[in-house]
Amino acid sequence: MKILLADDEPIARTMLQHWLTGWGYTVISVKDGEAALEALKNDPEIRLAVLDWVMPKVDGVEVCRHIRSGQSEPYIYVLLLTARDNKTDIVDGLDAGADDYLIKPCNPLELKVRLRAGRRVVELQEELVAAREKLRYEAMHDGLTGLLNRRAVLDQLDRELLRAGRSGNPVAVMMGDLDHFKAVNDTFGHAAGDAVLREAASRIKSCVRAYDSLGRIGGEEFLCVLPECTTAVGYTVAQRIGAALSQTPLATPNGPVPVTISLGVASTEQTGETTAEGLVRAADAALYRAKAAGRARAALATPVDFVLRRSGELLAIQ
Ligand SMILES: [Mg+2]
Repeated sequence: MKILLADDEPIARTMLQHWLTGWGYTVISVKDGEAALEALKNDPEIRLAVLDWVMPKVDGVEVCRHIRSGQSEPYIYVLLLTARDNKTDIVDGLDAGADDYLIKPCNPLELKVRLRAGRRVVELQEELVAAREKLRYEAMHDGLTGLLNRRAVLDQLDRELLRAGRSGNPVAVMMGDLDHFKAVNDTFGHAAGDAVLREAASRIKSCVRAYDSLGRIGGEEFLCVLPECTTAVGYTVAQRIGAALSQTPLATPNGPVPVTISLGVASTEQTGETTAEGLVRAADAALYRAKAAGRARAALATPVDFVLRRSGELLAIQ
């Protein structure tokens, strides 16, 4: 673990550095508060700081205040070293955000165990952040394909439409549905079905841009949000996806499985429709027509798709 050591007294600093290194820390040693601030700015891996209270230019308490006023993650555990044992001073130091303090000259064993406690705090905090990030990721992604889930991709559509409302750029929405997917599961088994979904997701993803949002919104149904994309380009992308899937059968544990996809595309450019619900409905209606026309193709929404709901099941927007 990386530790920042700031002390203006050369002998104390050398001794502390010697101890810290001996206990296995990677030490960044500086001689005043200003250099401490510089080191913190340049090295995001610092997790512990041992700061002398009294230093020229910027003192330890100021450095501590600076650490706490910045971003709260990753957490930096601060231990102040002070010759002051006056309670008011110590309260001031802790009030500035220090986690702990030691009276100088400090006993190496005491410093060692205090730092061990600090390291535990830092490690626990890192575990919490990692667990939270994992939950956040899982809440937004489809576990099978790694694509966004339904809610996340629809949220993304809302955001892109808001942005487009300001910029005036078009947004295209594409719905895709693997053809006869039930037959894949029935014929090749569910493991093959899952492999097909994963491979299809990966091929679709390779056809869109990094800033397009792609989600799996149902069993074999995908939704893609294409910001700053004209109707014509959206349609071209849909055709590219269709070709990417149909060109080569998809590899599964039970052998290659030929798969095709039907796609529907709608864009804000077509009728001025700017609601997520209206666009998804139009793309869905276009997809339905692609299916009805024989599948394995892309269809562009027609003006009527923007106003009429097709009979049968509709994508319910959450
Ligand atoms: Mg000093």
